[in-house]
Amino acid sequence: MPDVLLWLTLLGVFDAAIDCYDCEQWNRPQEPFRIYGNTWYVGTGGLASILIDTDAGLILLDGGLPQSAEVIVGNISALGFRPKDIRFIGLSHAHFDHAGGIGALQRLNGATVVASQDAAKALRAGSLQSNDPQFGGGMTGQMFPAVADVLGVADGWQMRMGGVTLTALHTPGHTWGGMSWTWQACEKDRCLDVVYVDSLSPVSRTGYRFSDGLGDVLGETLGRVANLDCDIMLSTHDFSFGLHQKLAQGAKAFIDDQGCRSRADKTLIQLEKRLKSEQP
Ligand SMILES: [Zn+2]
Repeated sequence: MPDVLLWLTLLGVFDAAIDCYDCEQWNRPQEPFRIYGNTWYVGTGGLASILIDTDAGLILLDGGLPQSAEVIVGNISALGFRPKDIRFIGLSHAHFDHAGGIGALQRLNGATVVASQDAAKALRAGSLQSNDPQFGGGMTGQMFPAVADVLGVADGWQMRMGGVTLTALHTPGHTWGGMSWTWQACEKDRCLDVVYVDSLSPVSRTGYRFSDGLGDVLGETLGRVANLDCDIMLSTHDFSFGLHQKLAQGAKAFIDDQGCRSRADKTLIQLEKRLKSEQP
């Protein structure tokens, strides 16, 4: 265990692990790597965390499970960055597998945590809100470590820091408060649009109906995602952006200007199937 992790553990910075069927598999170690330019992968083998290096500090997107915080801190340190230089932590959506590590990560550096208004409510409470498709019904992850200090922002919110402009895109569908994030990453004179697309899958507790509103909203989101300027599509789970396949092919495989569109097309098929299954 690297020194920094040892003393953070002794200081009690990290929250207790959440146990779930997939948690160990999601939290498996993953060597961090550069995706393109200022953009680095620092997540676990199954749950994405993205680091953006700017001239005025670091931006982190998503914190995985509570037990992922240690992995993320180790990965950031292994790349030669300092976790205490994180100024902003952006959230995709307030579920335990992406928000769980954020409380501990914020305690390390006092970073501003940014989420949609809806996700901010859940994050402050440390629990799913009643409008969440996964609320109740015995689904895991109803509770996760609360984050007291969260900035709730609307669609189109922008933050400029150290030469990077980060834009929040409200992309509801998996939850009402889903947020995707976009920025540019440059190498030499080639700048690419990177999009960190939130989870889009229509997954819920038994009995929830996407037909009652969220399904239409997800349909609109898919149209929006398909048409984004998007040279590199990243997302919340390894399988949702082909992390391991692309890594095996080399970092260039992450560059694909059809990535957002094909993701949206695939999800539309899932959504149509889901809506059909809800018909009486
Ligand atoms: Zn989720």
